[in-house]
Amino acid sequence: MEMSMKIDTQLIETMLENARGTDSRTLDEILDRADGMSGLSPEDVAALLVTESPEHIARMFEIAGRIKEKIYGERVVMFAPLYVCDYCVNQCVYCGYKCDNVFRRRRLTMDEVREEAAILERMGHKRLALEAGEDPVNCPIDYILEVIRTLYEMKADNGEIRRVNVNIAATTVENYAKLHEAGIGTYILFQETYHEPTYRRMHTAGPKSNYEYHLTAFDRAMQAGIDDVGGGVLFGLHDANFEVLGLMLHNRHLEQKYGAGFHTISVPRLCEAAGADLSMYGDIPTDERFLRIVAAIRLAVPYTGMIISTRESPEMRKELIKIGISQISGGSSVEVGGYSLRESSEDGGEQFEVADKRTPSEIMTWLMDEGLVPSFCTACYRQGRTGDRFMSLAKSGNIKNVCLPNALMTLCEYMMDYGDDAFRAKAEALIEKNLPKIENDTMRERTTANIKKIKEGGRDLFV
Ligand code: SAM
Repeated sequence: MEMSMKIDTQLIETMLENARGTDSRTLDEILDRADGMSGLSPEDVAALLVTESPEHIARMFEIAGRIKEKIYGERVVMFAPLYVCDYCVNQCVYCGYKCDNVFRRRRLTMDEVREEAAILERMGHKRLALEAGEDPVNCPIDYILEVIRTLYEMKADNGEIRRVNVNIAATTVENYAKLHEAGIGTYILFQETYHEPTYRRMHTAGPKSNYEYHLTAFDRAMQAGIDDVGGGVLFGLHDANFEVLGLMLHNRHLEQKYGAGFHTISVPRLCEAAGADLSMYGDIPTDERFLRIVAAIRLAVPYTGMIISTRESPEMRKELIKIGISQISGGSSVEVGGYSLRESSEDGGEQFEVADKRTPSEIMTWLMDEGLVPSFCTACYRQGRTGDRFMSLAKSGNIKNVCLPNALMTLCEYMMDYGDDAFRAKAEALIEKNLPKIENDTMRERTTANIKKIKEGGRDLFV
């Protein structure tokens, strides 16, 4: 068994080439297997990515929707990014933070971190994705650790950040151990592209230009005790089919070596950024192609959460949620100090342009109107349900008995603390409609009792 993380470009290209000859019967078999929710091999995924058979493509979307519904129900987890530092020594050609771009760079002081966190908490957010550029001098690991401590200590009224996921540059086992110790949720890192020659062209200077070091980051994170890692690629840098297979091979490597693959997969699509003109990129998937990619990933790794950000428009987000996305950001700023700047209506240095500018409350209302249940749940990692323990609970189907209760309880909290009358009426009706869907009797009774407690002032109740 191959135990070191490597991507064989030739192997992926051959897999895609061979997949072109897949006959209709084999495609049927692959889709039958996918429908059984046991996941797919990279070869199966290749066949689904390249087929041109309208009938099989239609079935793929149908199954993706069914898997989404069976495993994730109506829940959609909400989070917000928090950019703390835009100093960066890397030259990622597509990124607004690249070191060649000249703008006034900054890193937040702890007082500013508290200010940003207070604004996010007043929006109702409980889960953050901490984002930073890479700069060993201006943004060392000790700074990141101090930010995490500050966030976990910070409370504004009933607001509280309960889970800090971290998206910072690839680092050492020692630093990952410090992040683990600090109680992070998921460690997120996008490979950007699995295609090594493209990676080298896109990352021309700085530590991130080391493809191998970047590719093996999750191995070091896992060795350091972090067991929830979130992968992703930046769609648009290279052929999307190639990238999906890169993700699949990476996931398989983590499963084989550490017993759990990606906890989440993010699917960012390249956006306009300062110094990154989209016309320079010929591989940005069209909306139609992008939907198919998300559906294929949903079939391949049914229990891996899938994340989209405000890079996507409201219309795309709606379609993507139907076929696989389980987590979305809302009310986001992709700029250091951006939440405070927005309150004072100033503009600054965004990492890229966002397409969904709605507030969390508007997004939640929209989700509820679609019959979906917005969730701020942070229970799993606080209950030790991480890594392979999370995956085995998810695969047993029992996860439903904790996810829906936690979603309803966090929605109830939000409605009590931040909702106006119209919001409360909607949320209340949705909670009432969903309580009977909790299959386990004890859980249903406990959730009903907790909802009552939350209405009477109780907070942070979870199972
Ligand atoms: N500096 C760390 C790193 O390089 O991995 C942290 C991540 S960076 C703040 C967040 C992510 O934004 C990158 O991994 C990249 O995929 C994404 N990004 C950069 N430029 C982008 C663009 N023009 N459009 C969309 N996403 C972009």
